[in-house]
Amino acid sequence: MARTRRPLIAGNWKMNGLTADALALAKGVANGTKQAGWSDREVLVCPPATLVAAVAEAVKASGVFVGGQDCHAKSNGAHTGDISAEMLRDCGASHVIVGHSERRTDHGETDAVVRAKAEAAWRAGLVPIVCIGETLTEREAGKTLSVLETQLKGSLPGGSTATNVVVAYEPVWAIGTGKTPTTPEVAAAHAHIRRVLGGLMSESAGVRLLYGGSVKESNAAELLAAGDVDGALVGGASLKASEFLAIAKAA
Ligand code: PEP
Repeated sequence: MARTRRPLIAGNWKMNGLTADALALAKGVANGTKQAGWSDREVLVCPPATLVAAVAEAVKASGVFVGGQDCHAKSNGAHTGDISAEMLRDCGASHVIVGHSERRTDHGETDAVVRAKAEAAWRAGLVPIVCIGETLTEREAGKTLSVLETQLKGSLPGGSTATNVVVAYEPVWAIGTGKTPTTPEVAAAHAHIRRVLGGLMSESAGVRLLYGGSVKESNAAELLAAGDVDGALVGGASLKASEFLAIAKAA
């Protein structure tokens, strides 16, 4: 059966990459994407903020999108060290990750902050990738679905549509650990997220739901085939062009 939602494979480079290595990686992804000529999936790379402009230039005309890893809720002002959504857009970004668990943990970002950042992304013309996911403690306490529901309701701005937002389900305990939920567990979480979305917006069926957490070349096909999975948010495995492209191929 043909997919109704175009898969998105997004690479989160986190705090990795100096100019030479990052440009080599970006060009590797761009060349592979161009050669593959994919019109049925989208490929996105999210380098550190220092490299967004250079990476956007390096992947120009390849079809690869470029995103930021975070943005401030305000467009400008006295916020030393922060970067606005408008600045990302100005550098050539089209997307921005908001609410990644590392931001929620390291910077104490609440659902309300994440929501404000998603709204800032819209203001600048970017598509926010809103991340949600349970911790191991929450999972072991049987709270996974209720945590996802609370985070989704708190983090997703009103006015979200199939084209202006992407949701990423990233179990915190699966990020960077090599552990993943089983395929039925991923499918159950995504089905629940889609049910919750149905209560929040009218065109929920078109919203793309990415899975993230230890996606690799070896498990991509299985995870991407799970029900309601419309792509992946990839951390460690996005730092090698050949592995990231293999994941994109599996979509
Ligand atoms: C992430 O940081 O979004 C992520 C999914 O990381 P990893 O793929 O390394 O688990």
